[in-house]
Amino acid sequence: MKVLVLGAGQLAQMMHLAAAHLGVEVLAVDVKDNSVVNPVTKQAYEFDLAFAIEEASVITVEFEHIPEVLLGIVEKSGKLAPNVQSIMAGADRVREKQLLEKYAVSNCQHLIIDNLDQLANIDKKLGEQIIFKASRDGYDGYGQWRMKSASDIAPLKEIFTSLDLQKVPLIAESMSKFEREISVVGARDLQGNIRCFQIAENLHFEGQLHVSVAPAPSLSESHIAQATDIFATIVNGLNYTGVLAVEIFQVDEQLLVNEIAPRVHNSGHWTQDGADTCQFEQHIRAILGFPLGSVKAKGVTAMVNIIGCTSFSQNLIGIEGCHLHWYGKTLREKRKMGHINVVADNYAALGDKLTALLDYLPSEYFPLLADEAARLSTMK
Ligand code: ADP
Ligand code: MG
Repeated sequence: MKVLVLGAGQLAQMMHLAAAHLGVEVLAVDVKDNSVVNPVTKQAYEFDLAFAIEEASVITVEFEHIPEVLLGIVEKSGKLAPNVQSIMAGADRVREKQLLEKYAVSNCQHLIIDNLDQLANIDKKLGEQIIFKASRDGYDGYGQWRMKSASDIAPLKEIFTSLDLQKVPLIAESMSKFEREISVVGARDLQGNIRCFQIAENLHFEGQLHVSVAPAPSLSESHIAQATDIFATIVNGLNYTGVLAVEIFQVDEQLLVNEIAPRVHNSGHWTQDGADTCQFEQHIRAILGFPLGSVKAKGVTAMVNIIGCTSFSQNLIGIEGCHLHWYGKTLREKRKMGHINVVADNYAALGDKLTALLDYLPSEYFPLLADEAARLSTMK
């Protein structure tokens, strides 16, 4: 059986690795030139996209920003999973917000900006602290601008004059004073069965995910129920197939959805070593119509992203429960190069292992890790 993935980055690579033992071959499409490549070696196959589409049982995506022409071609094959509506909702923040409103899912107070005149007095509507997000093609905090006070309106207006807001509107969102960020990663299969992994707590630095801990420490039963309800509402509403992630802000008792990702997600990478079935295998199972796997956690796990850095000691894999996942990409500033999963029996032991891990890593690339290790070490 063959699965074709649109996108040839690390997520396609990890899908390939997770599918191989099921006897499923994963091939990837490099969306820059539509060549079909091996997701691990990146070597191009001799056959073309049309042949790969013909041969595939199912076609899926590793990211949502798929060129429209390619998405159209693949949709016509009738093999796309998740469906095109779900992918487009993840790719376009305007559609995403409309979808959340339609399903009455709580999210941040926002306005859609398609005209610069809407910036006048925007602070009266959304408060002085606002985050502006390009509605298309943003990721990892790129395509975002933060307003700290009303005096920022004029300089921001200047920046936004170079944008075509009619074509790609901005979303202006009130900055949320959340206690923490969490995410639900789960799967819905062809029959509509849903399984969610343990909810992760996510630590961001400059808009980029640095550390996830799962299960999220001291998350109340009511929050867990609320978050899984939100997940079910979204995947059922979209008639979704595969793995999806919902990023959520926890604000006191309330949960506000930040965004949805119609794919496997960075905050689900911990499942590779910390859950019975990893998110990549779960996605493959769901889209091929196989039974979903157990989502039981093996203990508590931290996922530490390696961002813009290659200068660390590989000997970190000598720490018990520590697993390196390296993507084999060329180094660039702020680029996700790999991640480390650390599994332990309890939070205190996890904190100690993260403290041990610090010795192998250059601290400037891991600005949140020492504090997180210390925080976990004090937990039961
Ligand atoms: P991306 O697609 O880059 O992940 P997000 O919308 O998730 O974009 O924003 C990245 C990060 O920026 C979030 O994880 C969060 O830390 C911060 N952020 C985004 N929107 C808000 C908001 N409304 N209030 C406070 N922080 C925000
Ligand atoms: Mg995000």
